[in-house]
Amino acid sequence: MKVLKFGGTSVGSAERMKKVAELIVAKKNIIVVLSAMSGTTNSLVEFANCLHQKKSDVATDLLLGLHEKYKQTVEELFSKDAFKQTADEMLSSHFNYLKQYTLDSFTLFEEKAVLAQGELLSTALFQLYLEEIGHTSALLPALNFMRIDKEEEPDHFYIKENLKRELDRQPGINCFITQGFICRNVYGEIDNLKRGGSDYTASIIGVAAQADEVQIWTDIDGMHNNDPRIVDKTSPIEHLSFDEAAELAYFGAKILHPSSIRPAKEANIPVRLKSTLQPEAEGTLITADLSGEGIKAIAAKSGITAVKIKSGRMLLAYGFLRKVFEIFESYKTPIDMITTSEVAVSVTIDDTTHLEKIVAELNEYGNVEVDHDQSIVCIVGDFTSPKTGIANQVFEALTETPIRMISYGGSNHNISILINSKDTKSALQALHNYLF
Ligand code: ADP
Ligand code: ASP
Ligand code: MG
Repeated sequence: MKVLKFGGTSVGSAERMKKVAELIVAKKNIIVVLSAMSGTTNSLVEFANCLHQKKSDVATDLLLGLHEKYKQTVEELFSKDAFKQTADEMLSSHFNYLKQYTLDSFTLFEEKAVLAQGELLSTALFQLYLEEIGHTSALLPALNFMRIDKEEEPDHFYIKENLKRELDRQPGINCFITQGFICRNVYGEIDNLKRGGSDYTASIIGVAAQADEVQIWTDIDGMHNNDPRIVDKTSPIEHLSFDEAAELAYFGAKILHPSSIRPAKEANIPVRLKSTLQPEAEGTLITADLSGEGIKAIAAKSGITAVKIKSGRMLLAYGFLRKVFEIFESYKTPIDMITTSEVAVSVTIDDTTHLEKIVAELNEYGNVEVDHDQSIVCIVGDFTSPKTGIANQVFEALTETPIRMISYGGSNHNISILINSKDTKSALQALHNYLF
């Protein structure tokens, strides 16, 4: 069994959906995970925001525009009238469901149900298209097996049991189509795995179905050695270890959802990144093996906040760090980077939901300074047997960039540097020019 995930661009138009169909018809024993058509989740987020702000006229217009776009897709995707009619009826039922919220009150729980419509629509259309071209397949409703627990972590046991039940219900089928991103929460309500979560769905299913490979098909030929949205002349990396890939995904390589490598790593399932636009390109293979020494790739994550706690009492004091960390822990706020000196500790966080309360509590232990708009630049590679000079190369490249924090030695495959976000583009380009 293989799991193949196709992202928003890959199913972003009738033409792209047909290409995906071409790619999968020759394959046997697959679970296909689809994202919403590109732009749809953003439109649904906008729709939900309008409803929260009680701008129901704007929301209605948005919905009409989106419905038109889908009608056009149906027109181009199907050639037989009977299929066009079935597809149009299907669209109407989804859009009528959405329309009701323009007339009524709107809650956060309903927002999640609204966001789920994108993946429900793309999978229903795609599966119907496979029917039209005579390829046997079946829908596998993600809401019947994909679930997160009270910590918002995937409930692997539940997922495995229920996925098996869903698969067993349709014997003889060897091509299943399911929704990425969407799930149920511990209360059984519709929820999701956060933006970009279809990659995560694919690896969770890969583990549950004991797949021999998870393939992430997207609009680029694999993980590049730098962010192609920011830097010129990046190139794809043939092979990465799970740890290297996880590090890049977590620190900003948008091609993968930050959590998507973890399940695959734990179950040792290879992950392959492929391009639907260039299917013949090799892409990137991610496995447990280490290959190639030295620096492999660079990524950057913006929206980082640095918190410095300066205390005379840290000097020679044990227990200080514990107290600091406990405060972050009590607000479920993960720390990404840490640096210490004799009188101060600096940490970075991504989630600032509870920042005010955290700072208030930290104030009991010392002077607290907060810097917003920071970016973590992460340099990833295999530094297990470091040729001397890896850190030196990095700092040589960054002579023009003011550096706020440095973290090296936490693992054998990462150097992280905190800089002001306004310097990100120039830092990434300078590192790229110097290192590659
Ligand atoms: P999908 O809709 O298929 O999930 P995404 O837009 O989420 O696709 O991810 C693919 C995009 O990730 C690419 O188009 C590229 O711009 C961006 N990206 C950012 N960093 C990297 C990187 N290091 N390697 C490859 N792509 C990257
Ligand atoms: N459709 C969702 C999003 O846009 C999930 C995904 O594409 O992975 O975030
Ligand atoms: Mg994505």
